[in-house]
Amino acid sequence: MKLIDGKQISAAIKEEIAGEVQKMKDQGEKVPHLAAILVGEDPASETYVNNKAKACKKVGFDSSTYRFPTDVTEEELLEAVDFINNDHEIDGLIVQLPLPDHIDNQKVIQHIAPEKDVDGFHPVNVGRMTIGLPSYVSATPHGIMELLMRSRIDTRGKNCVVLGRSNIVGKPMSLLMARNEEPGNATVTVCHSKTQNLAEITSKADILIVAIGRPEFVTADMVKEGAVVIDVGIHRVPSDKTKSGFRLIGDVRFDEVSEKASHITPVPGGVGPMTIVSLLMNTLKAAKREIYG
Ligand code: NAP
Repeated sequence: MKLIDGKQISAAIKEEIAGEVQKMKDQGEKVPHLAAILVGEDPASETYVNNKAKACKKVGFDSSTYRFPTDVTEEELLEAVDFINNDHEIDGLIVQLPLPDHIDNQKVIQHIAPEKDVDGFHPVNVGRMTIGLPSYVSATPHGIMELLMRSRIDTRGKNCVVLGRSNIVGKPMSLLMARNEEPGNATVTVCHSKTQNLAEITSKADILIVAIGRPEFVTADMVKEGAVVIDVGIHRVPSDKTKSGFRLIGDVRFDEVSEKASHITPVPGGVGPMTIVSLLMNTLKAAKREIYG
């Protein structure tokens, strides 16, 4: 079994990005700039936004955070998005989700200029990805494609089963694996909560991508000998073996599935570290006007 080391791969990509930024600086160009809108004081959202700002700093990007109180109106938020859309210094904009209940998440996302939508959530980017046009691909699926490519996993003509059909992971993942490009060109089956004979389907997969949100749901009997297994799940569970009193596990029973898989992503250290790196890659593309010219 070979471990697909997301930590190592993401560190290598960060170095590559930092090199690109240095070149931009040497040529007297502006460095990429990522802006984030953060509403309220949810600690998890604070942590995500802070981590993104730290990652930007590490590779030499500029970053800025626009903070709003929980009672901000939808109109005020849309005005802020407009302002950032029109600011030529800013290349990419992310709106930290979820927003408070009185604000329509979709309305705000659809207000972001598609060419600055580095989270890849705007319907224009989702649509462009679907029909194979250049687009920003959302961070987790983008990160998984990068892991497959850099681990030299052959996806062409393979049987790929995607477990989960969420808009942020399962659905884009299945489209990317089926696209006429590599990585891609796989024969894809999408499974969800209404799927019958799930284990029968998953055990035929050469590549199994699991984004189901159920701790250690996938067991060895559901996996084909020699399969490539990508575990997207992250769950924090109590543990008496760690100082913090908890540990992270995925949607896959790593101990037994790793005995059968040819390649597998660990949790933590697999898909997770690729998420922020994907955002940085999209922001670099935005700064270089690679998607929309
Ligand atoms: P989600 O929106 O809850 O979607 C879960 C999908 O799994 C749904 O399509 C659901 O089917 C399907 N499902 C649930 N129970 C099932 C069952 N018993 N049998 C078959 N299918 C079942 O989750 P998500 O946002 O895609 O996230 C999935 C996991 O990945 C979570 O653990 C999340 O924390 C993690 N995640 C990690 C990262 C990262 O950076 N590593 C990023 C995003 C998400 P229905 O559509 O029929 O309901």
